[in-house]
Amino acid sequence: MVPSIRTTLVMLAASSIPLFAQQPFHHFSESIESRFARSDPIVSYVIRVDSSDLSGFDVEMRLRNARDTVLLAMAHHPEYDDRFFRFVENMRVDASRGGNANITRVDSVVWRLVAPGGESVVRYRIRVPVSPSPRPAWVPFLSPTGGLFGGPHSFLYVVGKELAPAHVRVEVPASWSVATALRPTADSHTFFAASVHVLVESPVLAGRLRDWRFSVDGVPHRVVYWPLPNATPFDTAAFVSGIERIVRQAVAVFGRAPWPDYTFMFEDGAYGGLEHPGSVTLGAPSERLAQGGAWMASAFGETAHEFFHAWNLMRIHPVEYQGVDHRAPALSRGLWFSEGLSMYYSDLLRRRAGLSPVDSTRLVHLERLVSRYLSNSAYGHVSVEEISRAAYANRPDAIGDFSAGVHLPGELLGAMLDFVIRDATNGRRSLDDLMRTMLERFSGDRGFASTDVERAVHDVCACEVHAFFEQYVRGAAPIDFDKFLRLAGLQLEVRRTPAANNGQPVADLRMWSWVQPSDSALYLAIESPLTLWGRAGLHAGDRLLAANGAPMASQEEFRNFMRQLRIGDTARVEVARSSGKKSVAVVVTGYDQVVARVVPNPAATERQQRLRAAWLRGDP
Ligand SMILES: [Zn+2]
Repeated sequence: MVPSIRTTLVMLAASSIPLFAQQPFHHFSESIESRFARSDPIVSYVIRVDSSDLSGFDVEMRLRNARDTVLLAMAHHPEYDDRFFRFVENMRVDASRGGNANITRVDSVVWRLVAPGGESVVRYRIRVPVSPSPRPAWVPFLSPTGGLFGGPHSFLYVVGKELAPAHVRVEVPASWSVATALRPTADSHTFFAASVHVLVESPVLAGRLRDWRFSVDGVPHRVVYWPLPNATPFDTAAFVSGIERIVRQAVAVFGRAPWPDYTFMFEDGAYGGLEHPGSVTLGAPSERLAQGGAWMASAFGETAHEFFHAWNLMRIHPVEYQGVDHRAPALSRGLWFSEGLSMYYSDLLRRRAGLSPVDSTRLVHLERLVSRYLSNSAYGHVSVEEISRAAYANRPDAIGDFSAGVHLPGELLGAMLDFVIRDATNGRRSLDDLMRTMLERFSGDRGFASTDVERAVHDVCACEVHAFFEQYVRGAAPIDFDKFLRLAGLQLEVRRTPAANNGQPVADLRMWSWVQPSDSALYLAIESPLTLWGRAGLHAGDRLLAANGAPMASQEEFRNFMRQLRIGDTARVEVARSSGKKSVAVVVTGYDQVVARVVPNPAATERQQRLRAAWLRGDP
């Protein structure tokens, strides 16, 4: 859905050349012919799943009208890159027009294809790695009753031809049905992708699927569920009707559903989710859904979050994310908006849909977020733009001795901006208006930077928010909650209390280990320099050698070591860093956390009370 700007510019530049060519018309068309001959490849794929061998699936890529030499690559997902190039096997090529075709690997994700005449068939197999249990919902799997494939994990594409459309034929066992956001064609097993971006953002879930459909404003939405063979029965009517209510509330925020259709792909025995422009893969274990209550609510929470991403991340996207590339994009400073506001709406849409989350009120939800925020000193020392950049940096020490997620501060900034907008417009506008404005401005190729969000807020509230963005987005100032809560007749009460479990103080275990993919050594990460471990002189990135004299070989060993520590124990940790080895002895203590309460301000004006009531109801 978001073709690369680079490609678009190249195409515009190429198509404008004839306008300046001082040539008679017949030369003009000849020059077009020669210029564009074989420059736009015609591509089609076959994905074949053979139930007699579920160790992987076969991919066939047919190319016509290509240049004699092209580069093929596997796309890099900007966040969840599972590096499936590692599982490409048995790569070979046949030339259709005779001659010798060959394909050679240039680097891990790029192959050079030479096929004189531009016609060839490239064949390879994707070996499906054995997944842990439970399995991440977005990673391909194959089983006798169904599987997930396609999407970002399967296709090679022609580098520089990211706007080339393609057909995909899906060959699966006869008893399987197919769910995908790829467009259907006259042939029930052949689908169409309008660009490489659509191709790699449209995974295929196939198998013995449960299947439901509903439409919202005439736009079809499909829910499929792949059950494990021993699935626990659950209330599918409540499940599907909850999803439909979430869809209606999300569409109401933006005014319309911007897709021809949308597919929810739920998988039993899996967790997590990955959003795409026209579909989402989500883990939803049947044994949990069968328990209803909080488990059903949490499935709705994840669904609402991922579905909101179809707008807020897929369409309204940070400037660093620009379509398909086989190289990693620049780390994004804007994920606080993409993730945080999707968290905000995950909560709000469920309330508007009458699907009460575990938290009973917006006040309780907000005070829990504030408590977590104030309990982690990273917030207030590192800007959310830096935390955003660290979110997918693949190194837990990307922000040094701090560890922080982007969802929490992003959701809180969204909540504070909502108060600002409601106050400045006397309740006529809210964060909903900001989302619509962002969609109008950034639904095409253009991505946003924080200055763009600032401008959009300014235009929505007709108020001054430069200081807000300087302090809380680009700067690292801790959010002054009281200042914003006051606008809606609320106030904050904060107390510090020893972290406890069942009334018993718990030890400060806010340190863990991690490994780099390239290296089997263990490295440390700590939550902040103010933890017991940080104050003892340990740093994120220290190489862990031993704990209490025992060499530490795995994350599991270190986790077990940390878990058995009790207040009063002495822990001796040996590390190596560039300045040499260091041994640190620490007497384990408890630690304080912050408990926040958000309460009505008794001195609130009538206007503030009105804004508070509207906010509590979740009014648009
Ligand atoms: Zn997300």
